[in-house]
Amino acid sequence: PPVLLLFRNDLRIADNLALNAAADTGRPVLPVFVFDDGADGGRPPGGARRWWLHHALERLRASLSERGAGLTLRRGPTLATVLSLVEDTQANAIYWNRRYDPVGIAADSALKTALRERALEARSFDGHLLHEPSRLTTGTGGPYKVYSPFWRALAASGEPRAPVAAPKAIRPLPAPIASDGLENWSLLPTAPDWAGGLRDAWTPGEAGARQRLAEFLDAGLQHYAEGRDRPADAVTSRLSPHLAHGEITPFQIWHALNRPDLDTPARDLETFRKEIAWREFSYHLLFHNRDLASKTVNRDFDAFAWRPDAGLLAAWQQGRTGYPIVDAGMRQLWRTGWMHNRVRMVAASFLTKHLLQDWRDGEAWFWDTLVDADPASNPANWQWVAGSGADAAPYFRIFNPVLQGEKFDPDGTYVRDFVPELARLPSRYIHKPWQAPADTLSEAGVKLGATYPVAIVEHRKARAAALAAYDAMKGTR
Ligand code: FAD
Repeated sequence: PPVLLLFRNDLRIADNLALNAAADTGRPVLPVFVFDDGADGGRPPGGARRWWLHHALERLRASLSERGAGLTLRRGPTLATVLSLVEDTQANAIYWNRRYDPVGIAADSALKTALRERALEARSFDGHLLHEPSRLTTGTGGPYKVYSPFWRALAASGEPRAPVAAPKAIRPLPAPIASDGLENWSLLPTAPDWAGGLRDAWTPGEAGARQRLAEFLDAGLQHYAEGRDRPADAVTSRLSPHLAHGEITPFQIWHALNRPDLDTPARDLETFRKEIAWREFSYHLLFHNRDLASKTVNRDFDAFAWRPDAGLLAAWQQGRTGYPIVDAGMRQLWRTGWMHNRVRMVAASFLTKHLLQDWRDGEAWFWDTLVDADPASNPANWQWVAGSGADAAPYFRIFNPVLQGEKFDPDGTYVRDFVPELARLPSRYIHKPWQAPADTLSEAGVKLGATYPVAIVEHRKARAAALAAYDAMKGTR
């Protein structure tokens, strides 16, 4: 009987332990992508990830077929879908790589139980994370709430396992079984087609991920510690969407960093490893806070008086706040499905503090528009910025968007790229166009309120209002 191999958020054939184990049985293997699409009770992927998924599945299908196998597509709740596949194929072994979001964990453990009750072999493997989020515990056996000791524990827990190569051949089923058609899943936008900028920016799939990693090792890593905060410098790896879809594993990345010829300065290496560890920490938090996207970790924030305002939210989403660094970030997100980390922090802070909009609204927008939208990293970082998270930045530390822009985009290259209507402003004014003299504005073709918005809030007033809201919340404790 054949072995069923389930693909979900692990769209790769290299360093895929479940695939290798299936191929090693020597039996026919049926690779299936099981798309629960929210049917297991979680959030369906947003628009940007659906676009990515479509292309990633095409690439995965191509690399499986080079090894002799196909890719069957099925959509529906995990348990029912797998049981019907078992019936169709008479498979008696089902292998998969573990997921670590709470809905995925629950669905997969129910699956394991149901399969074992039917005397079928159910085996799961690691790959998505360097460490099982349940295993790293504090001295007293509890979860970590603070990043630094988590990092120390992770760093002390030994070198992660080495990645494994893709199997050379996969024995297919003698007769194909019915598959959904990828086109029928309608994962791509139709009218309007907003994905042009995504197509220009990304190559979904495993080969694209390998290429990104190679480029990063050649050109980014050596400058990472110093350059990672400047959004105009393409210094960061941009591996996040590939990691989110499991086209590359943290094991592959970790070991690639050790390539002897790289001779990377220790500071750059450690800084980058610590970012990979933030991803692990986010999953650790999600594991111990299953409603991370809806419930505040610090429950004091339940009493925070957000001021829902659809107009302010829309201005932020569309990059029309009048603060150039925020608008550039929001437009980068809309155009390319990705935003630089420094600007994510500034834009998220602006929404939650300057505009007093609930972090959950920002998180939901990111969920829909990011190609790397991640069930752990997205809510963990939103809560961190909003001040309600574990080990969060204190609420009262409020980013000044002008100073952030001047510090991290000093000559305005990033703003000019994404906010072209300001492109001709001198660098002095690029982050605060309202301070430019009238003739400077007119020479640059900028008319505030017409070609570019007037700032929707005044920084000092907004900051005072945010601090007052914070004090009021503390007063209710
Ligand atoms: P690099 O600097 O090259 O870092 C390498 C990898 O480390 C990243 O690919 C990512 O997997 C991990 N990493 C880096 N920083 C973080 C971090 N702060 N938290 C968790 N992992 C990190 N990241 C996501 O992957 N998905 C999200 O949905 C997401 N939402 C975010 C929302 C907000 C409000 C903020 C402030 C940050 C968010 N991040 C998210 C974290 C971070 O911005 C991105 O991981 C990073 O910008 C991805 O670019 P990169 O691959 O070039 O990163």
